Parts: sequence; structure tokens; C-alpha cells
Amino acid sequence: AEDPRLKAITEAIRVVPHFPKQGIMFQDITTLLLDHKVFKDTIDIFVDRYKDMGISIVAGVEARGFFFGPSIALAIGSKFVPLRKPRKLPGEVISEKYVLEYGSDCLEMHVGAVKPGDKAIVIDDLVATGGTLSAAISLLERGGAEVVECACVIGLSHFKDDCSVNGKPLYFLVEPR
Ligand code: AMP
Repeated sequence: AEDPRLKAITEAIRVVPHFPKQGIMFQDITTLLLDHKVFKDTIDIFVDRYKDMGISIVAGVEARGFFFGPSIALAIGSKFVPLRKPRKLPGEVISEKYVLEYGSDCLEMHVGAVKPGDKAIVIDDLVATGGTLSAAISLLERGGAEVVECACVIGLSHFKDDCSVNGKPLYFLVEPR
């Protein structure tokens, strides 16, 4: 039987049609953050999954991966590493460009944030094409870390059949409404 917490998580996410542009059904997780029980359930599900896997790094994707990643990291006893948009991190960085539907974007990670032998998970709010998570995986692997899994709150249903991004397992809690 399905975890009853997942229905409440689905219902706590506000869907905003045509944001930020025509045709996009924006999945707004800020309403989930306003519901303490649902927010806690969301974190607890990830913590239960990752607590005994020897994960040393939780890497969060800017910006909405930052809402979930640090709570998970503290609860499982791992470090938190922010993967940021260009020119936000002050130290020496490595960069990974990725292609979007229109144009391209880029993620950066501080050199030295991860080390060979680290076991990492990547967290973001939503996976659509997987392009963002692929860039995150590349950054962590270039730093010498092993990426164990990518985790999101929301996943598009086409990932149901092949639940992986760039050969790494993909785990998500709910599908968009
Ligand atoms: P992608 O790289 O195509 O997998 O897109 C995932 C990234 O874009 C994540 O950082 C999401 O926060 C954001 N994103 C894409 N589509 C949506 C959507 N419909 N609602 C909210 N965020 C989205």
C-alpha cells in the first residue's frame, strides 16, 4: 500500500499555471514548507531512506534544493554542499554548463567541498528533463565523490519507467498534479 503521507505531500504543493511563462505548470513547494507536519514528513521520508547508507555528503541544488538538503544532512549526520548558480560562490570553483529547453545554465561547486571516497546524494525539489541533476552529478564526480542517488520531492511521470539520471538512480516522492 502507498505511504499515506504521500497524498498529503501532493496536496500541499500548489500548482500555478503559466508561471513563469505560458504553458508551464509550476509546482510551488513553498506551500508545502508552510505546513509543518507535511514538511517534516517530507524530510523524514528522505532521512529514513538515507540514514544508514554511509552518505557523507548531501549536495543541494540552488535554490529549492537548499530548502530540503540541510535538514536531511543534519539528521543523517552528513555534510551539506551547495551547488550554486554562477558567480555566487566566493572561492575557487568548478563549473558545469547544461542545456535547457531555451538556452543554457550553469552550476558551480567549491573546489575541496568533496573528496575522493565521499558518498553523495543530490537533492532538488523537482526533476523535469534531468539536465540540472546531470550537471550536479558531473560536479560531484569531478570532485571525486561517488553519487549514490538523486532525490527530489516531485518527479515527472516519464521517469517512472526508467528511474535514473545519467546512470544514477533517481528517487522521488510524488508526481505533479
Ligand atoms: P530539469 O533540469 O529540466 O530537470 O529541471 C529541473 C529544475 O527546474 C529544478 O531545479 C526545478 O526547480 C525547475 N523546474 C522545472 N520545471 C518546473 C516546474 N514545472 N515547476 C517548478 N520547478 C520546475
